[in-house]
Amino acid sequence: MDLDREQASQNVEDRRGRRVSRGVAGGGIGTIIIILLALFFGFDPSLLLQGNVQEVNVPQTQSPQSQQQGRDDEMREFVARVLGSTERTWDQIFRAAGQTYQKPTLVLFSDAVESACGFAQAAAGPFYCGADQKLYIDLSFYRDLRQRFQAPGDFAQAYVIAHEVGHHVQNLLGIMRQEQSLQSRSSELEANALSVRLELQADCLAGIWANHAHRDRGILEQGDIEEGLNAAAQIGDDRMQKRAQGYVVPEGFTHGSAQQRVQWFRRGVQSGDLKQCDTFSRGPLS
Ligand SMILES: [Zn+2]
Repeated sequence: MDLDREQASQNVEDRRGRRVSRGVAGGGIGTIIIILLALFFGFDPSLLLQGNVQEVNVPQTQSPQSQQQGRDDEMREFVARVLGSTERTWDQIFRAAGQTYQKPTLVLFSDAVESACGFAQAAAGPFYCGADQKLYIDLSFYRDLRQRFQAPGDFAQAYVIAHEVGHHVQNLLGIMRQEQSLQSRSSELEANALSVRLELQADCLAGIWANHAHRDRGILEQGDIEEGLNAAAQIGDDRMQKRAQGYVVPEGFTHGSAQQRVQWFRRGVQSGDLKQCDTFSRGPLS
């Protein structure tokens, strides 16, 4: 990726190295919201619900000027620029539609974090909380993305942020609220199907950002789109399930199959047209 023409966002909140204690016992509405949100990125929500966690130990000392520190600063700058890029793009798109884009905050954390949607552990992956309009990411997820999910590359990393920003856009447009209200009246099967539509739309919106940012400021380099498509495929529900349990249960999909995620991300990238991202008013998704 070429982010030279992008400006770093001012909306990064760095909470790395901060100790987090779990204030309230698990359960209740907060937990339900956490499950919904954790599911946005395709992780096992049970990881979030280990109720006996009292405190998370974060190393108190960091070796000064270590290589790790340098890499972390580099990652922070990368994340801030990608977020800045999404701000510019979505600001333009909203403006063109006569609306105002409210920028989300991106929270960097290590190991565990407290959000308006509750307590979350890094193992659950990046997530977006609609209640505080913040994206949460532990940068160690990028190591998982590279190694465990076999999706290397800077554009794969940017796609993760753009996907969560996609959820923020859904929140601003009222889509997330509608989806949650529908879900609350649905069977588990229907709720899963609704979740898939929401997730595929976020993938499509991530593609819309890539299209506009490239058209306006040339962010994409050779191989970037392939990295993004590969990441979309690797975190498809079928591959995630296969990795986790060795077999695939399509009824349990909450994010879409590898093929669907690739398809909707590509749709956004190729068209740059929001109307192409309507995953809800279509019949069965192919
Ligand atoms: Zn998601």
